[in-house]
Amino acid sequence: MLLSIFVNSIVEILGLAVVVPVIGLVVQPETIQTNPTLKSVFDLVAPLGINTPSSFLIALCGLMIGAFLFKALFGLAVNLFQTRFSFSVAHRLSGQMWSYHFSQSLERMRGTDSGRILVEINGWPLQFANAFMVGGLMIVNEISVISVIAMGLLIYNPVVFVSIAVLIGFGALIIRRATKRRLLAYSDIRRQIEPHTNTLITNAVRGFLEVITFRASDAVREAYLKDRWTIFRLASHTSVLNLSPAKLYEVLAVVAVAGSIIIALLQGTPDSGFLELLSFMAISAYRIMPSMSRLNSAVMQMRGQQYVLDTMERGCAHQPKTPHRTASNIEQGAKVDLCVNGATLSYEALDEPVLAQFNHSFSNGKVHAVIGPSGSGKSTLISALLGLHQPEQGAIEVQLNGQETITLGEDLDLHDWILHVGYLSQQPFLFQGTVRDNLTLRVPGAVLNEELVMSLIQKLELDECLGPCPLEFELHEGGSNLSGGQQQRLALLRALQVQRPVLILDEATSALDSKLRDVVFELLRERAAVGCNVILVTHDNELAQRCDDVLDLGTLRNDLFS
Ligand code: ADP
Ligand code: MG
Repeated sequence: MLLSIFVNSIVEILGLAVVVPVIGLVVQPETIQTNPTLKSVFDLVAPLGINTPSSFLIALCGLMIGAFLFKALFGLAVNLFQTRFSFSVAHRLSGQMWSYHFSQSLERMRGTDSGRILVEINGWPLQFANAFMVGGLMIVNEISVISVIAMGLLIYNPVVFVSIAVLIGFGALIIRRATKRRLLAYSDIRRQIEPHTNTLITNAVRGFLEVITFRASDAVREAYLKDRWTIFRLASHTSVLNLSPAKLYEVLAVVAVAGSIIIALLQGTPDSGFLELLSFMAISAYRIMPSMSRLNSAVMQMRGQQYVLDTMERGCAHQPKTPHRTASNIEQGAKVDLCVNGATLSYEALDEPVLAQFNHSFSNGKVHAVIGPSGSGKSTLISALLGLHQPEQGAIEVQLNGQETITLGEDLDLHDWILHVGYLSQQPFLFQGTVRDNLTLRVPGAVLNEELVMSLIQKLELDECLGPCPLEFELHEGGSNLSGGQQQRLALLRALQVQRPVLILDEATSALDSKLRDVVFELLRERAAVGCNVILVTHDNELAQRCDDVLDLGTLRNDLFS
């Protein structure tokens, strides 16, 4: 990368250098004879038929066009190389941010705005690549061009070098003074607002019906537009600030040239040495000033997007935990018992634990009911059984085939454990795609047991709504072209067909009529009959009484707090 930058600046300078003899010859054609280098080149090409001053000049013009064309193409190629590199970094960062967010605890994940997760995975890595990678490389590029010119100037005339250096230093100081604090403040505001505008949209999409039935659409839109307005205003201020270095350097260059002329005039008639000096200053400024303004803009852009850098640093600091042991050796037909041993389950935000020093066991081959009033901790317990909520004290233990006991999170990697549990959440999760996609979650290589799936579709009475080719039936986002009960049954089908040793259902029958509820219960019984450990959270007392045992978290809490 550094080599490409270095070569690019050399090509850039050489390209510019071709202009010098062309202009020199146009102004003073006799240089062909007086300048020894030009004369030897002229003599060298004479045998090729280029033997008059004007044909020599035409050939030089052709060379100039060629050099500029080469310079342009080479510059583009280097740019392509550099941006590809930067965007591959953005690509990796997006992956890193994805892992960072998706390895957080359930509580953290649920406590983070969806809009923030969206922007941190989807938006900011690219912004980082633009501002910090492309920008950083541009800074190196410009510094390398400026250094080559500076070296030339220093050799040619130290006075010109010093005066341009003073000019540039002065400009950089003014720009830094005027913009630093403002840009950092903008960065802070954007860090807050940008994720929030995303959240407003995702929430409004999710709650579309509520929003329109409350006639809240305008209010949400206004809130969104207000935030957007702030962002756009900041963006416009930032773009003006980014232009300011170019303008300032332009003025400074003119001030310097005008100042030198005035000083020279005040001292008497300027001699030809002075004019030469002045024209060199002008040529150097012509190339250095744009470089300086690009350099300053790049630095300012970084400052304005400090928040992106902070976020990426946080994401990159995340190291995936290495598992102590994997659960992949739990075979499909394994009999798994779950034992909650003195577990205390709490949330950072709550003063009291939801469940304190709680003991219970769920044995295989049974259908267990978990009941209790809303807020009694049913879903929290389920999260703990899934390994997504670490107990503050105590542990969740898994017993394999009545023999080996392993502790969740200690001996067993949680992400591996969850692969052995069939789970159905309170809100069925369905997405845009075919029923097949929804059953496999598009995991590469996942194969459906089609015979089992088709028989479940029949038993759950989904055949009518899914039509003649149920697996190819296209769902809308969230499964919104199915009724609530149909969505629940389809999500249940997914949890049933994987045939895992543990099956956990969080209020899986809440949207079903009594006939379908009985069908579902029968299917759960069938799973338990082959050794599955079925845990059913329900509000339906009648259904709970038909299960093999009932855990009532309501009475537990009453005991705890009475
Ligand atoms: P249930 O499923 O029995 O209705 P939950 O397990 O969802 O109840 O919740 C138990 C308690 O924990 C409730 O008081 C609820 O307010 C609280 N709670 C649930 N999730 C969180 C969370 N992410 N942060 C803080 N408190 C929570
Ligand atoms: Mg719940």
